[in-house]
Amino acid sequence: MKEKDSSQTRVYHITWAGAYGVCCMFFWGCNLQCRICLLKKEAFDCHLPENRLRIYEREYESGRPDRFLTVGRIRELLDPLPVKQAVFMGAEPVCDPLFPAVLDCLAGSKNCRSILLTNGMKMPPLFSLNEIVFSLKAFTPSLHRDYTGRDNRTILKNFAAIASRRPAALRAETVLIPGYVDEGEVLRIAAFIASVDPGIPLRIDAYLPIPGLPWRAPSPGEIQALADRAKRILPNTTCFYGDEGRTELAYEVERIF
Ligand code: SF4
Repeated sequence: MKEKDSSQTRVYHITWAGAYGVCCMFFWGCNLQCRICLLKKEAFDCHLPENRLRIYEREYESGRPDRFLTVGRIRELLDPLPVKQAVFMGAEPVCDPLFPAVLDCLAGSKNCRSILLTNGMKMPPLFSLNEIVFSLKAFTPSLHRDYTGRDNRTILKNFAAIASRRPAALRAETVLIPGYVDEGEVLRIAAFIASVDPGIPLRIDAYLPIPGLPWRAPSPGEIQALADRAKRILPNTTCFYGDEGRTELAYEVERIF
């Protein structure tokens, strides 16, 4: 066993969608403190059969992770799987000092596409990734500080730096929170992205209410109308709103840790 194999990572959860060869790895720990962090409500994969409906229950909150995997155990779990796409997410994968070692666990999976979901506060190891999805919380500095507890200059700088180098495909996401990150703010985010590169895709997600916070979810009509306006600034804008679990998933997701 290599010395690194016994090192404990911050990976606390792994799921597998065999029909598409998609593996999602969840890392605990983050360098932002977002008021609306979805992990306060659900720390585990929302697509698991036991989770996909209860995340819409108003007072529901999942437990916190209490077990973490070593590098060697991750390799053992992944080795038998024909992984075509690995998604690194959770809280913030780049905060784990062993993130590069976790990426190495997939080195043997030929043609595996590695996708990182990040808040962009810390520069990721660019050349080990095929795609980076930046979650941009807010453009206005005072709102970003209120939302996350941190300044957003580094995030915006990292976003522009990755866009200019393009070692990996780059996409952006943001969350519409009526009364907080409102329509005007989302349009400012779209304008920022367009100033970097108008070809970068943006997805606007609907806020899922967190117990104890005052904001409501946007309606499908509100989010669609906003996406249509944002498209005039950034043509590759789409939106996503949940349907409270009414649509069945087209594939099965299972927990492998
Ligand atoms: S960046 Fe993501 S994981 Fe981190 S606190 Fe914000 S919402 Fe939560």
